[in-house]
Amino acid sequence: MRCVILRAVATPETPDRRLWIDGEWVPWERATVHVLSHSLQRGSLVFDYMSIHGTPRGDAVFRLHEHVERFLLSCALVGLPLERSGPELESAVLDTVRANPGSTALKMSAYLPSVEVDVVPVDDRVSVAIAAYDPVADILARKATRAPFKPELRLWIEKERRNRRSDILPAQAKVAANYTSPMAAKWKARQAGYDEIVLVDEDGYLAEGPTTNLFLVNAEGELCTPSERNVLLGITRRTVIELAKHDGIPVQEVSLEPQALHDAAEVFMTGTTAGVWPVVSVDDKTVGDGRPGPVTIRLREHFERVVSGRDPDFEHWLSYVER
Ligand code: PMP
Repeated sequence: MRCVILRAVATPETPDRRLWIDGEWVPWERATVHVLSHSLQRGSLVFDYMSIHGTPRGDAVFRLHEHVERFLLSCALVGLPLERSGPELESAVLDTVRANPGSTALKMSAYLPSVEVDVVPVDDRVSVAIAAYDPVADILARKATRAPFKPELRLWIEKERRNRRSDILPAQAKVAANYTSPMAAKWKARQAGYDEIVLVDEDGYLAEGPTTNLFLVNAEGELCTPSERNVLLGITRRTVIELAKHDGIPVQEVSLEPQALHDAAEVFMTGTTAGVWPVVSVDDKTVGDGRPGPVTIRLREHFERVVSGRDPDFEHWLSYVER
């Protein structure tokens, strides 16, 4: 009998990329888990998502150290017994970017691949998977239908009690289970014609979007963002706060009523994918004159200079990928 060894060939459905999984290189189409695995059934997968930028000195990962620190914090908050250290993960990230040229984003996941019967796993071995790819070319372009990219957002304040930020693990944990309630609320808002939602906390104060942090500019020209208590500690949020302080823009981290959004001169959301993303209306009410305002534009331009390695003052936030 002849034995035929089939090599997996990249097809339009399968990007030609390799993932780092527990120290081994695995082709994209083989990076799978069992449908009954704990992380899929119980939402226990922890992840972090970072961006890769072309700079005059080659590709670089933006704020790698901070992303890995947040990943370790999320694992600790969920109780995943991760056995990898920060420096080990940082070097695996750079290896993965090097092995996948043309990547613009990187997702790092920690999960329980074991098939379990109870919420507390008997086999608590944690796997780590690191994927570097281009979300547009490798994922979106392969879909039959695509959501158009909106340069500006129409925002909805989601005040329904069951969708509040309090029904989740601490907001600082980036764990799959925390995204189910915002997903349901955002899906509904999309059907009603809005692009993005902002969630409120258990006391009714503004919190964040499902995958973005929230900023507004008040009538005094101050930049305000909800305090750390009930939001994910976004790396872009932290970056924008630091850049605003550097540029002499007053910044406040405070409790904000939903009304503050309706009264704001400017509103924007921040995130690794979106960068600084202007909001042009809130609950159908136009923000300012319906166009991105001066503070938003100034911070967006500064942010873009920093991530692309064109501001020497902040070059230390870039981890270069030597090839
Ligand atoms: N809030 C939540 C709940 C998120 O998932 C994200 C995306 N990671 C953000 C805010 C923005 O964080 P970052 O700037 O680190 O992408």
